Amino acid sequence: MTSYHVWTIGCQMNVADSERMSAALDRLGCSPIEELEAADVIVLNSCVVRQGAEDKVTGRLSSLAGLKRQNPDRIIALMGCMVGPDTRDLKRRFPHVDCFMRPQEFGPLVRLVEAREGVCLDTSEILVPSHPSVTTYIPITHGCDKFCAFCIIPYRRGREVSRPIEEVVKEMEMLAKRGVKEVTLLGQNVDSYGDDLPGAPDLADLLEAANAVPAIKRIRFLTSHPNDMSQKIIDAVARLEKVCEFVNLPVQAGDNTVLANMRRGYTREQYFALAGRIRAAMPKVGLSTDIIVGFPGESAEQFEQTVDLVRRVRFDKVHVAQYSARPGTISHRKMPDDVTPEEKKRRYQVLDDLQAKISYQINKEMVGTTEEILIEGQKDVRWHGRTRTNRLVYIEGGAEHRHGELVDVEITKATTWSVEGTVKSEHNLGAVTQRLQISVVAN
Ligand code: SF4
Repeated sequence: MTSYHVWTIGCQMNVADSERMSAALDRLGCSPIEELEAADVIVLNSCVVRQGAEDKVTGRLSSLAGLKRQNPDRIIALMGCMVGPDTRDLKRRFPHVDCFMRPQEFGPLVRLVEAREGVCLDTSEILVPSHPSVTTYIPITHGCDKFCAFCIIPYRRGREVSRPIEEVVKEMEMLAKRGVKEVTLLGQNVDSYGDDLPGAPDLADLLEAANAVPAIKRIRFLTSHPNDMSQKIIDAVARLEKVCEFVNLPVQAGDNTVLANMRRGYTREQYFALAGRIRAAMPKVGLSTDIIVGFPGESAEQFEQTVDLVRRVRFDKVHVAQYSARPGTISHRKMPDDVTPEEKKRRYQVLDDLQAKISYQINKEMVGTTEEILIEGQKDVRWHGRTRTNRLVYIEGGAEHRHGELVDVEITKATTWSVEGTVKSEHNLGAVTQRLQISVVAN
């Protein structure tokens, strides 16, 4: 039987794409294997959002040349954001690669495997992961129309395209039959979902329809854009019982001039107002953000505005990245990368240290509260899951058959990155059957 291995780097969208690519290969009769070097079909799903990720893909790709020489029948495919509309340069640099596929473009590899296996893929059914975990991703939009100055995504994933509500709901139902309890609706900017669809439904309409799928217990969405998060969406998240109170709202910078240079389209004051409206509707909401330090022209004083914003908003989680110029983007073409690597690192560290203190404070405040946790899996002997506000949870003890269960946990202890608690009750099983130690790790 033909074996395959899909190697993935990058964002959740890439993870979702890899799951669907794997599903297509499964349907063609191939089987997944752990060892990349031993696979008959090797797929690298790439990311070029930062130089570090691109370097890893390039290193992997180069190392596959020898494998192809050993066995010319082996199929090597490159997919994802490294593949733009013009692949001539990639073909010249990596002649051992058999096919190049843009994000979500599975056809070229499917055709190669069909020819090799003498089979034909039934394309009448939606591609869903063959063996999904309890919590899984569903892409609801592809591409992005925003063209932020630093971002390569619109050039690689194209303009924004939304999937119809009925298709997303059907996929949820199919996943529910495979044991999925929680879905994360994915897009580069989910808040502009539906603008391109007939009747222009929005994310609130989609959440409403998703909330009605019986076997799905929780719904998340990722990522939001401050300019498109309407009051209707906020109210839907607050009102719909399965939609978790968690919003990833990238701010990117706290200084108005830097925000304008980034072409983000909002000011810090507008961001504060939006965070305030979200918290007014959902006082316990988990808020996370993305920040880039060292954007071209960002002075030390302007960076202090970002520090001030982080202190004032008090996020649950901050993803900090050091600016990395991406060829083809507006900032690469027009703005010199003038903040030194040392200064970028210093700014990164300042935010990291500040967020560690804030996370500890938030975790301490959780002690004595009760959190609903969906148990997702087991690592070594410990089970793990997440709160509705997206904190990762580890459970001490080896109790069995807990995948996909919702449990209420009383938090008893906090450290910087985790809290611990005991199970008070189990939603699915009713009465308390035993007491467990829980670690909640800020993700
Ligand atoms: S909203 Fe901006 S940062 Fe996000 S994917 Fe679109 S262009 Fe990139």
